[in-house]
Amino acid sequence: MLRQSILRLARSGRIKRLISVMPVSSGIVNRFVPGDDTASAVASTRGLIDAGLHVSLDHLGEDTLDPAQAEQAVASYLEMLDALVAAGLARNAEVSVKLSAVGQALPEVGDKLCLENARTICRAARNAGTTVTIDMEDHTTTDATLATVRELRKDYPETGAVIQAYLRRTEADARALAFEGSRVRLCKGAYREPESVAFQDRLEVDKSYVRCLKVLMAGQGYPMVATHDPRMIAIAAALATRTGRSHGSYEFQMLYGIRPDEQQRLAESGEKVRVYLPYGEEWYGYLMRRLAERPSNLTFFARSLVSKS
Ligand SMILES: Cc1cc2nc3c(=O)[nH]c(=O)nc-3n(C[C@H](O)[C@H](O)[C@H](O)COP(=O)(O)OP(=O)(O)OC[C@H]3O[C@@H](n4cnc5c(N)ncnc54)[C@H](O)[C@@H]3O)c2cc1C
Repeated sequence: MLRQSILRLARSGRIKRLISVMPVSSGIVNRFVPGDDTASAVASTRGLIDAGLHVSLDHLGEDTLDPAQAEQAVASYLEMLDALVAAGLARNAEVSVKLSAVGQALPEVGDKLCLENARTICRAARNAGTTVTIDMEDHTTTDATLATVRELRKDYPETGAVIQAYLRRTEADARALAFEGSRVRLCKGAYREPESVAFQDRLEVDKSYVRCLKVLMAGQGYPMVATHDPRMIAIAAALATRTGRSHGSYEFQMLYGIRPDEQQRLAESGEKVRVYLPYGEEWYGYLMRRLAERPSNLTFFARSLVSKS
């Protein structure tokens, strides 16, 4: 309930104007977003890789309605991929892309434009020796995003898809995606969604997550288990053992700044762990979703707002 209210409030222009002026260096932003430019994101990536982790970098931005801004987002990804190669980090760091940041939401031309833009990023990632995962956004975009991933995979079969356990449709999507070579990130889902399409009860979401995990682990693809939930992590590890998967034939993924000790523990136990690292100036939507997930973050957030004023 609180989560839905925070996500609704986050869409208010006044709240956005009030919060967006905070510098990325302020405590609450910095906890989830380590930097606003390529150099600082590469430095954080190096720290994580040195600690035995893998990384997926997300250049922050979403809901772009300006083709020039979409082009700018592509340029930022190309700059990042070059920087990863120059730093010798591309083997352990890939990129995550939101199609709405590269033009999906533009009327009429959106699907075509975001496909072309995502292709450009996939080509650069291939040349850099790494991969792209296409993030999933709200349910109105699920069909279009999965269709774009299917197109991208014709030339770049290593492109990853994301599915969200809170959507009622997702178990069927998991079955369709559990084929050989298919990289699939399973997360619970972070948007405000209506009951008609999404489970509202946390227990129902968890049950759906486990059903999808079973499908992905038993399938031929490469499951990417994106969660901080200790129960889901334990179930994923047990299913991997039961289905005869070796370490590295699937991976765990967590967000930068959330349960870093667990990220380290899993990596030290031999699991492959990837940290999702967002960077850039457009951190508002991302931060609001993180606050909505966890009420105790709100207290921390309120304190940092008061200390700035
Ligand atoms: C690598 C990765 C990529 C993702 N990509 C997408 C995507 O493309 N589309 C999408 O809709 N969602 C995405 N998400 C977000 C995801 O859908 C969830 O909203 C988020 O991961 C919280 O769910 P959870 O599985 O951690 O479980 P929860 O039940 O929400 O949390 C379990 C535990 O994790 C910790 N935790 C969770 N969230 C927070 C937080 N914000 N702050 C502090 N502690 C926290 C707490 O200890 C909590 O008890 C992604 C998540 C990850 C890890």
